[in-house]
Amino acid sequence: MKAAVVKDFSAPLVVEDVELPVPGPGQALVEVRYSGVCHTDLHAAHGDWPVKPAVPFVPGHEGVGKVVAVGDGCSRLAVGDTVGNAWFWSACGACEFCGTGRETLCPDQRNGGYSVDGSFGRYMLVDSAYAPVIPQGVDLAAAAPILCAGVTVYKGLKESEVRPGQWVLVSGIGGLGHIAVQYARAMGMRVVAVDVSDEKCALARRHGAELAVNALTDTDAAATIAEFTGGGVHGGLVTAVNGAAFSQAVGALRRGGTLALVGLPPEQFPLDIFSTVLFGLTVRGSIVGTRTDLAEALDFFARGLIEPTYTLRPLTDINQIFDEMTAGRIDGRVVMDMSL
Ligand code: NAD
Ligand code: ZN
Ligand code: ZN
Repeated sequence: MKAAVVKDFSAPLVVEDVELPVPGPGQALVEVRYSGVCHTDLHAAHGDWPVKPAVPFVPGHEGVGKVVAVGDGCSRLAVGDTVGNAWFWSACGACEFCGTGRETLCPDQRNGGYSVDGSFGRYMLVDSAYAPVIPQGVDLAAAAPILCAGVTVYKGLKESEVRPGQWVLVSGIGGLGHIAVQYARAMGMRVVAVDVSDEKCALARRHGAELAVNALTDTDAAATIAEFTGGGVHGGLVTAVNGAAFSQAVGALRRGGTLALVGLPPEQFPLDIFSTVLFGLTVRGSIVGTRTDLAEALDFFARGLIEPTYTLRPLTDINQIFDEMTAGRIDGRVVMDMSL
């Protein structure tokens, strides 16, 4: 089958024929119809993070398709079901984190498109106990970005502890951020967006942000946000792939505010101890979402509350798509259509 393979962290992906995977016990083989391209796939292909995937591997964790074969003991899924893969591909099911509703912290989890081959190919494997089932009747191409971007921002917004009617900051209006604006609105929040391009700011406004600040042209974004919101945002979500955006987002918080860190640039940022202590700020990490978070995120989508902005492209464009992502030139998400 055809797949886009990472062979070397410093070389482009190679689109080539690889062996068709065989579903093991509890697994299903899925014919991929669409796959979103997440910035995490780019980090994976470059080996950006301390824990690196073993090469060669096939990235992709926003795949949607139909089950074409099942392994032994695969009772939850049957041939013909429409399912997806996700970053949170499987977990041990038995540790303290799996047992307390925090399964995305499982130390024995497997990750789609990282430690298990992902959706940048014609076929992929899923774990039948963990694979999200796609609601009936939805647009499958639009559903793909919900599997990572959607669930991640939905969970991150919960972690921001912002309540209906309060202000939330969404920093970074890319694949994740433009969907975050929509979940925030659907959850009753008032949205302030920050990015470094006028096009992304316009995208945020189209999806319901009341204020969109270009941090390149507005040199004191925090002051602009404080004035507009009457004292700062109650909470926020940083999806930007830039360390500077993290410090800036902390500066936009109202006293007592909570910031959920979601973006994963391989950088550090300085956290000012004095203001964090005196203003009672909370800064926390947030990683994708549990199976329940994902089912909830898909339900918002199936009810028509979330409409990802996306462009369809063929798998063979993958290196060009990564170049455009690095340059910040993608509007919303790119979804690869495996039939192109
Ligand atoms: P993307 O490339 O689509 O979007 C990134 C956005 O950040 C772009 O719009 C870019 O213009 C903007 N940006 C860059 N510098 C900025 C700055 N200084 N201030 C504000 N905005 C700035 O990427 P994506 O697919 O949305 O992913 C974003 C990040 O989130 C990546 O690092 C990815 O690995 C990470 N991620 C984390 C999780 C998680 O569970 N925590 C899940 C998925 C993705
Ligand atoms: Zn992702
Ligand atoms: Zn576990």
